[in-house]
Amino acid sequence: MSYDPDNIFAKILRGEIPSFKVYEDEDTYCFMDIMPRTDGHCLVIPKTPCRNILDASPEQLSACMTTVNKVANACMRAFGADGITLQQFSEAAGGQEVFHLHFHILPRHEGVSTRPPGKMGDMDQIKAHGAAIAEAIENM
Ligand code: 5GP
Repeated sequence: MSYDPDNIFAKILRGEIPSFKVYEDEDTYCFMDIMPRTDGHCLVIPKTPCRNILDASPEQLSACMTTVNKVANACMRAFGADGITLQQFSEAAGGQEVFHLHFHILPRHEGVSTRPPGKMGDMDQIKAHGAAIAEAIENM
């Protein structure tokens, strides 16, 4: 399986499709999922091409995990969360729909289930949640 440079997240990285940015560094980009399974659901991706966990380099994985750690802690503070669910799907059979490596970060609260997949969220709310995570990162 090869990398398709026209996948949605590659377009987001090139600025061809808008996104609610949460955080970025030299190697990674974090932005809000537009179909959030929980409040604050965001995605961490490497800036370099890579399909999923199967072709990721150690450097890409390391960079992503460093950002996941930072954003996850910011989510705990921003939402007063009780925990974090980290998800990664590889290939269609593994549940992957967008073929650029990404890690889902879902802030979780005790006893609260995730929402069903595939439902578009409220853009103003998603934007506000992204801003809250970004602010928490700045104050860390
Ligand atoms: P996966 O490939 O791991 O199944 O999930 C892809 C994720 O990307 C889904 O959670 C979906 O809501 C999200 N998604 C799909 N299209 C877009 C988009 O255009 N912008 C953003 N921000 N997220 C998207």
